[in-house]
Amino acid sequence: MKNILLTPILAAAILAAPAAFAAGNPPVSSVRLYVFDCGRLKVEDPSRFNLKKEEMKTLDMSVGCYMIAHPKGTLLWDVGVIPDKKFPAGGPASKLYASSNKTLKSQMAAAGYQPENSTYLAMSHAHWDHLANANEFAKATWLTRAVERGILFGPNPPERSTPDEYDALKSAKSISLPEGDYDVFGDGSVVIKPAYGHTPGHSVLFVRLAKTGPVLLSGDLYHYPEEITLDRYPTFEFNKQQTQQARANIQAFMKQSGAKLWIQHDLAAFEKLKKAPSYYE
Ligand SMILES: [Zn+2]
Repeated sequence: MKNILLTPILAAAILAAPAAFAAGNPPVSSVRLYVFDCGRLKVEDPSRFNLKKEEMKTLDMSVGCYMIAHPKGTLLWDVGVIPDKKFPAGGPASKLYASSNKTLKSQMAAAGYQPENSTYLAMSHAHWDHLANANEFAKATWLTRAVERGILFGPNPPERSTPDEYDALKSAKSISLPEGDYDVFGDGSVVIKPAYGHTPGHSVLFVRLAKTGPVLLSGDLYHYPEEITLDRYPTFEFNKQQTQQARANIQAFMKQSGAKLWIQHDLAAFEKLKKAPSYYE
């Protein structure tokens, strides 16, 4: 008898839960930032970044994947360099000069999330080390700039990636980002900001966290901290003048907002971050 009485109460609780819960995600009451370790890039020669070995502390790069869990849904920001489907059972996996020990999916699962329940997907830019698992998020709404979509599906797709890593996005629901800032959940807590130059539609991500404070995820606005201290630019920028302007804009924004810069490829800094299922809030 007790069990029969419980059923309508449970049903009512599920109906009253926020949308993110209905989509299969754990409900959250404040903004969380999860960090996933999506691998390493081996770098022997940093001259592509206009840097010399002796000027640098660390040559290898981290590959960070990030998820923001908001009461209104989730946003994946950058989705790795090696597709989960290419991992031999349990990993580790490698591709060219990239290697990784674990899948993005297994790290999300440890925190209670599944790629197919994601609300939004955004990639800082259309390069191989940021998009490998894009196809796993084809049920999400893809937040992208027209010019970056054009790179993925145009005549010169990104080097070192294959269309089967991202081609499902072609028919995914998507929102074409405007020229300026894009406020993902409408409350100013998660904002995609233009920072063009590395690629024509490159973006960075601002996240306001109640306890941690504001954070800015760099995309590839910088790869190494020495690009800031020594004022260096990679040799392969799409448009160096644009990157210069973007760096000035973002530095001014960080000063004004108090946001801390997280350079996604900065291995030494990345290793210090807590990883999922722990999170920043
Ligand atoms: Zn990169």
